[in-house]
Amino acid sequence: MLIGAIEAGGTKFVCSVLNESNETVDKCIIKTKKPAETLNEAANFFRGHDIESLGVGAFGPIDLNAKSNTYGMIKNTPKKDWKNFPLLEELKKMLKVPVALDTDVNAACLGEFRFGAAQDVDSAMYITVGTGVGAGFVKDNQVFKGFSHPEMGHIKVKRIADDTFPGVCPYHDDCIEGLVSGPAIEKRAGVKGTDIDKNDAVWETVAYYIAQALVNYTLVLSPERIIIGGGVMKQSHLYPMIRKEFARILNDYIEIDDVNEYITEPLMNDDQGVIGAAALARDISR
Ligand code: ADP
Ligand code: ZN
Repeated sequence: MLIGAIEAGGTKFVCSVLNESNETVDKCIIKTKKPAETLNEAANFFRGHDIESLGVGAFGPIDLNAKSNTYGMIKNTPKKDWKNFPLLEELKKMLKVPVALDTDVNAACLGEFRFGAAQDVDSAMYITVGTGVGAGFVKDNQVFKGFSHPEMGHIKVKRIADDTFPGVCPYHDDCIEGLVSGPAIEKRAGVKGTDIDKNDAVWETVAYYIAQALVNYTLVLSPERIIIGGGVMKQSHLYPMIRKEFARILNDYIEIDDVNEYITEPLMNDDQGVIGAAALARDISR
């Protein structure tokens, strides 16, 4: 039995076919173009394999409210060709197999939960700090959803008093995505994140805002582990800085056994999204 999986990102679609042992038997990477073109290429790849079902972890926001008449559509994206595109319906029509759709971060969270850094716990969060900021939460082997998916990248954080950087989120003045996403860091520093010195004060600011978000997530969701991934976190010196700020802000109100284990790096080499999408597919084919 073969399973199809797509990590549908704003720059690329990673498409994989996995066997019953969860091994990748074929993989292709498609540049994200207009919807029809991109999906045609993906469908052609999957038609070469006899897949039972398809799982998709996609950039969003996506309408995941099963009662909504825009269920399965991409919503308010700045990629205007994709806005209101019925991703779920189109994929079902093209491939004629059951399709499970969720957000990229929910899929990544499920991937790390089942096969990566959260295999030994019953609940975990995965946060990406990349082009955007987003987070997923898995509990009891399932991705958490309310009327749709959470949007934890847009929670407000308390600004540092003299921080006048306006943020890059077009919707909010001081949400976490607007303040610490890759494009926010680049705009704040005036150079690419990769070119900022490890000792630059900008990382302290970034760590402080991320730590605030993690404290809020911890207070609301009580996850047993928090995994932080995404391009910005390739700056691995951020992990100890975030842990330190997290402990300072939480101020021992909740007991966290070992903050080094609690806030951790991903274990899946950027494959958590596509492997997690395959897990979503497997769950609907059972
Ligand atoms: P996406 O979020 O689009 O899936 P990534 O998670 O790779 O992709 O995030 C891309 C963002 O991360 C870009 O804004 C990029 O500038 C930033 N980034 C990537 N690598 C690094 C790095 N080593 N240091 C700082 N920022 C980085
Ligand atoms: Zn925002």
